[in-house]
Parts: sequence; C-alpha cells; structure tokens
Amino acid sequence: MLIGVLGGGQLGMMTAQAGVKLGHTFRFLDSAPDSPARVAGELQVGDFTDTDALRRFARGLGVVTWEFENVPCSAVQVLSRSVTAYPGIALLEIAQDRLSEKTAFREIGLAPARHLPVSSLHDLRDAVSDMGVPCILKTRRMGYDGKGQFLIRSRDDIDTAWKEIGQSQELILEGFVEFEREVSLIACRAKGGAGVGTGLGAGARSAGDVERGSGGRGIAFYPMPTNVHRAGILRVSRVGEGAEIEPELEHAARAAVEKLMVGMDYVGVLTVEFFVVKKLDGGRALIANEMAPRVHNSGHWSIEGSHASQFENHCRAITGMELGSAALVHPAAAMVNIVGAAPRAEDVQRVPGAYLHLYGKEPREGRKLGHITLVGSREQVESGLSSLRGIPGTVIE
Ligand code: AMP
Repeated sequence: MLIGVLGGGQLGMMTAQAGVKLGHTFRFLDSAPDSPARVAGELQVGDFTDTDALRRFARGLGVVTWEFENVPCSAVQVLSRSVTAYPGIALLEIAQDRLSEKTAFREIGLAPARHLPVSSLHDLRDAVSDMGVPCILKTRRMGYDGKGQFLIRSRDDIDTAWKEIGQSQELILEGFVEFEREVSLIACRAKGGAGVGTGLGAGARSAGDVERGSGGRGIAFYPMPTNVHRAGILRVSRVGEGAEIEPELEHAARAAVEKLMVGMDYVGVLTVEFFVVKKLDGGRALIANEMAPRVHNSGHWSIEGSHASQFENHCRAITGMELGSAALVHPAAAMVNIVGAAPRAEDVQRVPGAYLHLYGKEPREGRKLGHITLVGSREQVESGLSSLRGIPGTVIE
C-alpha cells in the first residue's frame, strides 16, 4: 500500500523504514527539501495549506497519517475527502490545544497539572496570584521540545513572560509540578480494535512472550519508559528493568489510554507523557502532561528493544494488519538522544549492545540529530550508558 505521511522528519523516516519491510511504500509532504524522510520514500515539497499540493499528494494513497502533531487540521480535512486518515482528526484537534487536552485527560480519569487559561496580561497577573509561584506559562498551541514556555519564578517575571510569549494570546498557566520522574505510555490500537498479539511482528527475534506486550481490545501497550528531559528536550529513556515503573501506575495509565482509544475509535500509535509525583502517604500518582497522536521520541528504543517497534505497529494498524507484540526482547533497553552535535560513529560502535541512528540533519543547537539505542540486561544497558557518557550531543543522567 502507498502510505502518505504529513511531515518528513525523522519520525516519518523511521515509520517508513519499518513499513517498507511490510511491503508498503511511502510519500511524504514537507516544506523542507532536505527532510530526513527523503531517504525512505518519495518526498513532495509543499505546504500543508496548499490545497492543490494536498490533492496531488493524495493521488494513489491507500491511507494517510502524520508524524507531526501540529499539522493543520484543515490539511487533514482536505485529504480525508479522498483518502482515509489515521489516527483520526478528533484527537489531533484535541492534542493541538493544551487546554482541551487537559479536559480530555480529566474525562478519562487522568489528573492534569493545575492550570488556568490566560489571554491577557491582566489575566496572567490574576492567574499567577491564584496559582502561586513557581508556575509555567505556555502557549496553548504549537509548542514542542520546551518551546513556547516560560518559567515564572516570582511575580517579577510576569512582564518578561508576557513579552516572550504573550503575543500568541492563547495561553495556559500551569502549576509547577514537583515531580519525582517523568514517564510515558505508548500504545497502538488496531483497526476496529481487533487482532493483537497473534504475531510477533516483522522485528521478532525470538518466540518470547507475545501476550506481555499486548492488551485487550486490540491494543498493544509498550512497557512504560522513564524519561529524562533537559531544557524541555528528551535526553534519555530507560525501559524494562531499568525504568522501575510501579505496576499500579502502569495499570492506571493503560486503563485511561484504552478508554480514550476505544472511545475515539483511534487507530495507530498514541503517546501520553506523565509526571510521577510522591503522595503524602508515600505512594506515587500520575499527573498527565501531554499527549501526541503519533509515534513518539520516548518510544525509539522499540526499534531494537521490542518484537514489533512503535513504527512497525503504527504501519500495521493504519493498513489494517494484525499488530505485533510490543513486549521487550531483552530485559532492559535505553535510548539516548543526540542533540546539537553528532558523535563519531566509532565511539558508539565500540559499545556492546549500542545502535546508532542518525537522521541526516545538519547540526544546529537544540536540534535532534539522531539517537542511540542500548539493549541487554539492566547491567549491560547501564554500563553502555556509562561508556557513552560525555560523547558529543548526549546528556546522560
Ligand atoms: P511539555 O512541552 O509540556 O512536554 O514540557 C517539556 C518539559 O518541561 C516536560 O517534559 C517537563 O520536564 C517540563 N515541564 C512542563 N510542564 C511542567 C510543569 N507543569 N511542571 C514541571 N515541569 C514541567
């Protein structure tokens, strides 16, 4: 099947690299001629707002998806007239607005951070009085990797925060969550919620425990990674034994995400990011931060770490195939992002169990250039992380 992908970034590239192994071909739409995904399919250079470009893009497609959640909903609407679009516009619209996202979290039983909508400097002053400091002012739309955010440490920061991001007028003030760690849940739902876990996926290397990576109602749940961010950018994900996820938290996250996916008849990969907070009684609770209706950076380890990666399962779901198992192949895995500067390949290759993925992007400050996956026992993964510490582009904690 010819699959159309809105966006030609690394997520699109890795989706196609998984999808071609299932016999699919890919066409990407992106305004940048040097988009990473150009190596994995046909790249149409064009704008998401150009209706003629969208019509040309749609020609011959079996299905369309996106790798970038800020793709205009208008583009998806135009394409939907002639081709099926998955995961579906309903959740895309919700995920594009931090306020409606938080309302959706509440509806499925997840607690969001305390928040107040802000649309003027006057509102902001009132909201900061109400919320207390520290708090974070965020744009409701188009924020990613910590962009469009301002940490307000004291009331003296209010004017600067407004100058920095107030011009968007659609803002949200969030209480600062004193979290213990950050985690995410990546799940993939099959079309019609059927047929999960009967196959290992194209990436399967051993018979393993298929069921462990699967859920009821046609959803493959990946084991939850623990994620470390710096300046709003993901730096390291650990999964499996090294992630130390409390089973009750994983259970609660899965139940909520299942509710959302089933309720919306969602098809494909959905990611929800959470903060883990310590409760007064010493237990732990989840605060939902944001969701992405697409494959996600905190799931990159699944390429080598799971029987079927998030990319493979997304392709399987949107083309009506059975899903593969999301279970881990090894007891542990980790992913290290390469940001701003690329390491020498030799420095990664000499680390046992390490796989280097580069996206063919020009180095630039704050830009994700690639990632490294580590798989093995928990000790092997931690020892690999220690060996990689200090190489260019990485921050390993
Ligand atoms: P976001 O774009 O909302 O995912 O934010 C990027 C990162 O900033 C998160 O992964 C956290 O590390 C941090 N962050 C965002 N919102 C909050 C908050 N309300 N409290 C504490 N840290 C936050």
